[in-house]
Amino acid sequence: MRLTIHRGAKEIGGSCVEITAGRTRVIVDLGMPLVSPWNKKEKLETRGFAKKSSQELLDMAVLPKVAGLYAMDGGGAAVDAVLLSHPHQDHYGLLGHIRPGIPVYLSDGCRRIIEASDIFLPIKANIRNPVVIDDRKPVKIGDITVTPYLMDHSGYGALAFLIEGDGKKVFYSGDFRAHGRKAALFPKFVRTAPQGVDCLLMEGTTLGREGRAPETETDIEEKIAGIARRYKGIKLVYASGQNIDRLVSFYKAAKSIGGVFVVDLYTAFVLDSLGNKNIPHPCASCRNLRVLYTKNYVIKLAQAGREDAVKRYRGSEITLREIAKAGEKAFLMYRESIRPKIEKIGDLKDAAMIYSMYEGYKREESFKKVQSFLDENKIMLETAHTSGHASFDDLKRLAAALKPNVLTPIHTFNPERYAELWPKVRSLNDGETFEP
Ligand SMILES: [Zn+2]
Repeated sequence: MRLTIHRGAKEIGGSCVEITAGRTRVIVDLGMPLVSPWNKKEKLETRGFAKKSSQELLDMAVLPKVAGLYAMDGGGAAVDAVLLSHPHQDHYGLLGHIRPGIPVYLSDGCRRIIEASDIFLPIKANIRNPVVIDDRKPVKIGDITVTPYLMDHSGYGALAFLIEGDGKKVFYSGDFRAHGRKAALFPKFVRTAPQGVDCLLMEGTTLGREGRAPETETDIEEKIAGIARRYKGIKLVYASGQNIDRLVSFYKAAKSIGGVFVVDLYTAFVLDSLGNKNIPHPCASCRNLRVLYTKNYVIKLAQAGREDAVKRYRGSEITLREIAKAGEKAFLMYRESIRPKIEKIGDLKDAAMIYSMYEGYKREESFKKVQSFLDENKIMLETAHTSGHASFDDLKRLAAALKPNVLTPIHTFNPERYAELWPKVRSLNDGETFEP
């Protein structure tokens, strides 16, 4: 078996791993890098990438060089499959460039989120040949057997993979944590972890960012409700429309104070697309979840031929007047496109914004506009967030459960810290091939 980390060995984002066994080649994740290929301290500006060709992105070293993967290099044997761990752009953001025939193996939840998001996001996965795989059900791809494991993560339907071939076993953790709404998956995994693993590729996002033990998603829900009680104005919510665990926390917090969680059409569509009745979504009986319509998203849904959704959510639509009336009991998802509407609500006195994302995004250019809006309107900024990634102790627990022959860093800026997690570390550089 041969294993190459094309990208992501020593950085967070842009994950791409190639595994070959027998005559079979699979790629695990094909993420958008978050930092410059040349300088890992420099953030990569990806905004214009949707308009760039595969060749341009290859020349920019954004697309990793992998033979038989891209639509543009039509010749040669195609990669047999792409395995996708979860629906975050740093894992799937470059999928739009692959040959359309290559099957993409992913969980049902992951497929639903990506298909819904493709309608709204500039960078699209356009998966033409999806193959849905289920928790702990092995699938054969040529000479390779893949067993997916459902993990707790802020990305919905996240999978880890056990990849077997040539008598060897590689385990790819994907991104995971043990303190989200599916936290119970972690102790279950630890109890039943596959044994005889030759190489464990494990994420280490939080290394170098360690603090206190991570708050659970339920802690966050209570924190949100607590913040809500302190402010007499409306609550603006700054959160990802794809972080389902977090949306549930806001919904529950809103419900606990008899309030209403107002989402934009994009978020409404994502929630609805999950087809999961346990997750809040726009429907006649979900009166604590309402939808604020904006033209830009109506157009996007219409362009995708989804007027049915536009029509259906009208039953959950909320007007600005109703939001104003709900006042302190209204939680409103903030979007740049919603901002002019928020200003029309009128009195923003004693309103607060609840920031619910990675702290680092606050320092980014895109947040400056938000900050100046808050300053102009004297809106307080509060934070309620917990990481989507495993703590140091939980990383250590995963390694101990799998007892790999070697531990290999991936998805981390601090690979040198892995020696604290497991005694046998085999660090790789991007592009380096290793035979477990
Ligand atoms: Zn990631």
